[in-house]
Amino acid sequence: MNRVYNFSAGPSMLPVPVLERAAAEMLSYGESGMSVMEMSHRSPDYEAIIKKAEADLREIMNIPDNYKVLFLQGGASTQFASVALNLINRAPSKKALYAVSGQFSGKAYKEAVKMGLNAKCIATTKDTNFDEVPVITRDMVDQDASYLHICFNNTIYGTKYSYIPECGEVPLVADLSSCIISEPIDVSKFGVIYAGAQKNMAPAGLTLVIVREDLLGLADETIPTMLDWKTLADNDSMYNTPPCYAIYMAGLVYEWIKDLGGLEKMKEMNEKKAAVLYDYLDSQSYYIAPVKAGSRSMMNVTFVTGNADLDKKFASEAAKAGLKNLKGHRSVGGMRASIYNAMPYDGVVALVEFMKKFAEENPKD
Ligand SMILES: *Cc1c(COP(=O)(O)O)cnc(C)c1O
Repeated sequence: MNRVYNFSAGPSMLPVPVLERAAAEMLSYGESGMSVMEMSHRSPDYEAIIKKAEADLREIMNIPDNYKVLFLQGGASTQFASVALNLINRAPSKKALYAVSGQFSGKAYKEAVKMGLNAKCIATTKDTNFDEVPVITRDMVDQDASYLHICFNNTIYGTKYSYIPECGEVPLVADLSSCIISEPIDVSKFGVIYAGAQKNMAPAGLTLVIVREDLLGLADETIPTMLDWKTLADNDSMYNTPPCYAIYMAGLVYEWIKDLGGLEKMKEMNEKKAAVLYDYLDSQSYYIAPVKAGSRSMMNVTFVTGNADLDKKFASEAAKAGLKNLKGHRSVGGMRASIYNAMPYDGVVALVEFMKKFAEENPKD
């Protein structure tokens, strides 16, 4: 078997022990005689799976008791609408604040505008092509607003907030799709956290929402049932059929993290991996890392050679060497190495070795 180092931004690598366990349990989960894929979501076996997944996630993320954990479908993109519909009524102003730090936060903002809501962009780094995250200070957050939405780690541009913005009484809503469970985070600083699972948690099909209880039940009566967090919370994510298999896989990933030593340990491992890459980028001039100091992502590392043809050659030769999916997002070009939890340290070392070799063999004149 020939596993490659897969630097895809998502869907992305899953830990080998998790895949092995899923393979071992594929034909018969426990004594059930059936795959988890084939089980009723109301069966005792499955109920134990989803309950354990939630308990383990609460443990590793240290989620306070006054927060609900929802396992949903529809992707992070569906939450762009859900966030607005569930929260816009929180304050009498019915005003929503957005910081636009890249494509996904831009889409979230546009979704609110599209729905005819009073949405205001309070900060953006669009003018510098999102080479850093915007500064958000307490005085920029109108205290009469219903919520402030940010994207904490910008998957396409490779930027991340190095701090949690101070919002006063206004709930902070954050898209953590590409950095969830990569390091400890103080959940109590957020009103809502959501994430598509396919970056750092599970196969595609699962969307995680962590919502503070006082933010449930604020939506108009006309909210579509499947977007209403209250309905989903009241039914323990089982209002309809949940993404059963993806939840099971997420549960295996949470167990894997627990066994490794939790998110402190995960952070240490991720920092070590990112440092190998950033230290190399900072030590030379062949490759340029466009992200400004202070905004560097630990999960998505972007770089360019400054020559589009060389960038193309880099991605294709790297793929031949077993380093897959290093081409940058179609909207920005260049290269992007996504080094989520499941990427081994050796994968990043192999990438840096390849980068050195490529630079030697392809001089710029
Ligand atoms: C991938 C991604 C999304 C979109 O997720 P879907 O699950 O495909 O809708 C949204 N936000 C961020 C930060 C992402 O990385």
